[in-house]
Amino acid sequence: MKYISTRGDATRRGFSEILLEGLAPDGGLYLPEAYPHIDTATLARWREVHATQGYAALAFEILSLYIDDIPAEDLRALCARTYTAEVYGTDAIVPLKPLEPGLCLESLSNGPTLAFKDMAMQLLGNLFEYELGRRGETLNILGATSGDTGSAAEYAMRGKRGVRVFMLSPHGRMSPFQQAQMFSLQDENIHNLAVEGVFDDAQDIVKAVSNDLAFKRQYRIGTVNSINWARLLAQVVYYFAGYFLATKSNDEQVSFTVPSGNFGNVCAGHVARMMGLPVKHLVVATNENNVLEEFFRTGSYRVRGSAETFETSSPSMDISKASNFERFVYDLLGRDGVRTKALFGEALSRDGVFTLSAEDFARIGAYGFQSGRSTHADRLATIRATYEGQGVLIDTHTADGVKVARELREPGVPMIVLETALPAKFEATIAEALGPDVHAPRPAALADLESRPKRFQVMPADTARIQQYIRDHVPL
Ligand SMILES: *Cc1c(COP(=O)(O)O)cnc(C)c1O
Repeated sequence: MKYISTRGDATRRGFSEILLEGLAPDGGLYLPEAYPHIDTATLARWREVHATQGYAALAFEILSLYIDDIPAEDLRALCARTYTAEVYGTDAIVPLKPLEPGLCLESLSNGPTLAFKDMAMQLLGNLFEYELGRRGETLNILGATSGDTGSAAEYAMRGKRGVRVFMLSPHGRMSPFQQAQMFSLQDENIHNLAVEGVFDDAQDIVKAVSNDLAFKRQYRIGTVNSINWARLLAQVVYYFAGYFLATKSNDEQVSFTVPSGNFGNVCAGHVARMMGLPVKHLVVATNENNVLEEFFRTGSYRVRGSAETFETSSPSMDISKASNFERFVYDLLGRDGVRTKALFGEALSRDGVFTLSAEDFARIGAYGFQSGRSTHADRLATIRATYEGQGVLIDTHTADGVKVARELREPGVPMIVLETALPAKFEATIAEALGPDVHAPRPAALADLESRPKRFQVMPADTARIQQYIRDHVPL
């Protein structure tokens, strides 16, 4: 399997070549040359593999179609080491929770940081360690976080040979839980840098350092952001697993509702559907930051400025643009890199918006997408209704999904809502919805999280000082 860019650069690259990369050199995103098509015999075999050997074995089957430059036995071992009951708390790894007839949750949030990003990031940590070891190289991951991504990256990379993490966060602006989650890590290869500023200041520093090409090369700076193909690929697996758990035979169809921000999660659903998984609809649920909902309703993709990007109670979906969306549009345009580049590389940077032709827009239906939007009031009402009606406590992001799923479900087609985080992470909104007496259960291992010793460094919002910190901590 070779990988190409969505913007027309036709260089064919192997998986291991793009694993440690972000954007393709022409500014596009990497995609496989073609999606492997799963015939009925293979789908039947995979159902059996999943039922008898479990999630890690299914992950190996799927990943091995996309990764042919890691020996099969090594890849199998990486999957087995990643998807364990010890890390995810259950043998099923992604168990279903029934909500009501025809509607269930798929639990993707039982990893170490209680959000679905662990599903992919844990694999990435093992893949990075493997590939760097094979090359005899090291990598220094630099990132900025306002919460979920940074902690998932740190928990994936902690203790990994050949990898260091420098994670910038806005000093004093994360929730106590999120802060404790990151700052309590004592691993020597994890550096928490609390920047005196807001998230955008931290993000700007990361961009400035990445644009300093000499520094970037000398200090081997890399990233783990959501456009990384390996992250997306890891997410494809749980669409198959959810399908097998929700159905008895491969003649049945299901739909998925996905609480969405950067379009990474639902894009993995798109890939699964392109491979032939019997998915009727992929429902994109957004919060007030409805860049994607607007697109699927109107055909216009309009990125937002910071004044138009709202801080909501489902903060991991607060996006101004959806960084993985280009992958779907490339497929929608018949994999035409020239046209994709004209939209994303030209129109969007010039006008901040593009609108599909009526003809292109009409083809979206064939890809199964639907969309809906949820607000703070919807979130509270959905958390309340689900707790009182079904006795299930859901987090704010999952609530956006459940709200939209209830509107768009169809009789006879099971609807699976992806549970993207646990409510324990969002205590304030849970209290707002249900009153102060209802407490979201926390995994026992995290009971004393906030009182653990913290390891972090407060830094001014100054690129040069951050670069100096990296120089001081990276042996050349
Ligand atoms: C990241 C995240 C999302 C959004 O996922 P995308 O892949 O960016 O669409 C939704 N919910 C939670 C809890 C997240 O952490």
